[in-house]
Amino acid sequence: MEGVEIDQFVKTPEGFTCSDKSGNYIIHAKLVIDGSGAHSQFAKKIGKLEVEKEHHCAGLRVYYKGVTGIKEGNYIELHFLKDFLPGYFWIFPLADGQCNVGVGMRSDYVGKKRINLKTELNNIIQKYPQLSERFKNAEPVDDIRGYGLPLGSKKRAISGDNYMLIGDAASLIDPFTGEGIGNAILSGYTAAQQAKEAIESKNFSGTALKKFDEAIYRRLGDELSLSYRMQKLVKYPWLFNFVVRKANRNKVLRETIMVMFEDIDIRDRLRKPSFYFKLLFSGKN
Ligand SMILES: Cc1cc2nc3c(=O)[nH]c(=O)nc-3n(C[C@H](O)[C@H](O)[C@H](O)COP(=O)(O)OP(=O)(O)OC[C@H]3O[C@@H](n4cnc5c(N)ncnc54)[C@H](O)[C@@H]3O)c2cc1C
Repeated sequence: MEGVEIDQFVKTPEGFTCSDKSGNYIIHAKLVIDGSGAHSQFAKKIGKLEVEKEHHCAGLRVYYKGVTGIKEGNYIELHFLKDFLPGYFWIFPLADGQCNVGVGMRSDYVGKKRINLKTELNNIIQKYPQLSERFKNAEPVDDIRGYGLPLGSKKRAISGDNYMLIGDAASLIDPFTGEGIGNAILSGYTAAQQAKEAIESKNFSGTALKKFDEAIYRRLGDELSLSYRMQKLVKYPWLFNFVVRKANRNKVLRETIMVMFEDIDIRDRLRKPSFYFKLLFSGKN
């Protein structure tokens, strides 16, 4: 039901009774598929998924107009800056000439290093000459907004008696790229298949629905753990710089890195020591 915010969910012997704040909308469900996003109260209260800072990313973004130096083709820019590792600064050019500008960092580092992301975002724009020059005549067009991304770097229980969690509610965001749309769609599709089976067999028990968890982690488990390893690589600037410098000179490597975001087999190469060995001894190109 469009425009209805589910506020209460009460476990009943048959499933759940869900209702909005006013109590006008009441739904009795044998099966709940919760896709209410990163701040899902259902996932927190029923699924017992807490925010775990080492598996969570904090981000800020603000829209700017007047940023210069955007490359033809509106390529996105990710800047890994020495004083802001293991976080990163981004500029995403938009079609109308404005830019989505922001910073992201794992929440545990934000806490440990007592980082104020808002201060960092403004500092980065002013401090680094390669950026300050480009922001000289730029101005923000809205307020800075904060986000939390529940990362899929930890395997969690994402179903139970009469429910399944999908998308951000199930913490399925790729821990390296920060992408969550694909995994949200995949988990929704998988939950629909599982729901069909549950309805046909009239079995909505947590034991039966465990098959949903198995299907999700069978499909996404390797990819998520590989991305988690890649996320950790960013902590080593020397290794990261080495790969990027080589990529600047080496077309094949450059293309490898470009497609690795789409191709899991190629991304897998980056975690193998042999990959770095070959790079090291591959001469100038
Ligand atoms: C700044 C930012 C940039 C991102 N960029 C990318 C990107 O480039 N590529 C990518 O793949 N991913 C990106 N992501 C992640 C991506 O947005 C999410 O992973 C994805 O949207 C998750 O989809 P979802 O359906 O699980 O949740 P959501 O898209 O959050 O949808 C949840 C829906 O549930 C509704 N809802 C919430 N609570 C209730 C309630 N109580 N009752 C009823 N309805 C409710 C909400 O209104 C919302 O419509 C980005 C995230 C952020 C914050």
